[in-house]
Amino acid sequence: MLDIKFIRQHAETVQRVADQKGISVSISDLLDLDHRRLKLLKETETLRAARNERTKEIALLMRQDASKEPESLKNEVKQINVQLNHLERALTEVNTAYHQMMMLVPNIVSPDTPVGKSDADNVEIKRVGVPPAFNFEPKDHVKLGELHDMIDIPRGVKVGGSRSYFLKGAGFQLHRAVQQLAIDLLISRGFIPMDVPTMVRQEALWNTGFFPTGQDQTYKFEDEPNWLVGTSEVSLMSYYSQEIVDVSEPIRLAGVSSCFRREVGSAGRDVHGLYRVHQFAKVEQVILCENNADVSEQILQQITQNAEDILQMLELPYRVMAVCTGDMSQKTYKQYDIETWMPSRNGYGETHSSSNLHDFQARRSNIRYRGEDGNLHYCHTLNNTAVATPRILIPLLENHQQEDGSIYIPQALRKYLGGAERLG
Ligand code: AMP
Repeated sequence: MLDIKFIRQHAETVQRVADQKGISVSISDLLDLDHRRLKLLKETETLRAARNERTKEIALLMRQDASKEPESLKNEVKQINVQLNHLERALTEVNTAYHQMMMLVPNIVSPDTPVGKSDADNVEIKRVGVPPAFNFEPKDHVKLGELHDMIDIPRGVKVGGSRSYFLKGAGFQLHRAVQQLAIDLLISRGFIPMDVPTMVRQEALWNTGFFPTGQDQTYKFEDEPNWLVGTSEVSLMSYYSQEIVDVSEPIRLAGVSSCFRREVGSAGRDVHGLYRVHQFAKVEQVILCENNADVSEQILQQITQNAEDILQMLELPYRVMAVCTGDMSQKTYKQYDIETWMPSRNGYGETHSSSNLHDFQARRSNIRYRGEDGNLHYCHTLNNTAVATPRILIPLLENHQQEDGSIYIPQALRKYLGGAERLG
């Protein structure tokens, strides 16, 4: 959520960013509601003060002569109450409309964010590693998964419906190994690992900026107030909601969870294999720090580097993209995506997403800290994938396959796989 004072002063900028992010909200309508809200608030306060005045006068007169009812004053109070009733109802209505609209207003974006309509307009800023040149016909991860009996999609669909899968044997071990590698790296860099609730109240989703825009992507339980999270960012950020925290050192959290996404709007897209599924697992980096653009920018670079280091440990070629306005979510101020080379796509596919939200999320979640000036400030918050699996298994299996069908295991993963150098 942006500060209404900021919106009043930068209405044109905020409207432009909303248009660039493809969010349908009228800032002039919002400011109109804001104006009406303040006017009604003032009228209500004036009337309340008048009523208090009259009530005091009545009490005074009654004390002087209890036998004389100050009828005209009493009638005035009655009339004021009727007026107040109308005003309060109008104020509630305007407040509700104002609040709903505020929830739609997007975060502004950093000056270096590329302007564009979709991921096709994201800008490559760095490429690391070289895609393998196979001198044999490479297999895709589904074929490799079948060959080693480690990925079973037909039975996944039989049991869980579309976009479901089983990971089995070495597939399960690889999935756990990459997670543990990521967790160990984050712990060594000062992150607190956390197992989190994946069923949350809807406030958590509103407060972290996933609702209203992502509501159609979220699974809801029937007859229960809970929803299933699409990322542990929701739970980790909500851990501190409504609290005053100590960010004299940035708070670094590593969430490990299953993630659930409806993938509405993706019908027919990425239907083959493990790329886009309804349930996956993610090790997520979440940071809260002071409200200082230089500090949070530095942390954005650090959490992006953490993800890059994991990809380098997995010996995978990747590129870093500056995400454009049209591919950004409502809450994001600045974002990098990391895309890893996937031979079966003959291209790079997104595996990580690194975002700086400035104080947008903390303002909605009401997470503050006391600054050196003695005042309370909203934190800056950031998040990035450390590893998401099974998607990461696509480049891992496909890039490291050998002519005989075996899979080369990167050095850094071996200790989680009993020292194995190859699979199969
Ligand atoms: P996000 O939280 O949307 O930024 O996604 C972070 C990472 O989670 C992506 O880069 C993917 O690696 C992974 N991911 C997101 N959605 C899916 C999905 N439907 N299926 C598999 N992996 C996903």
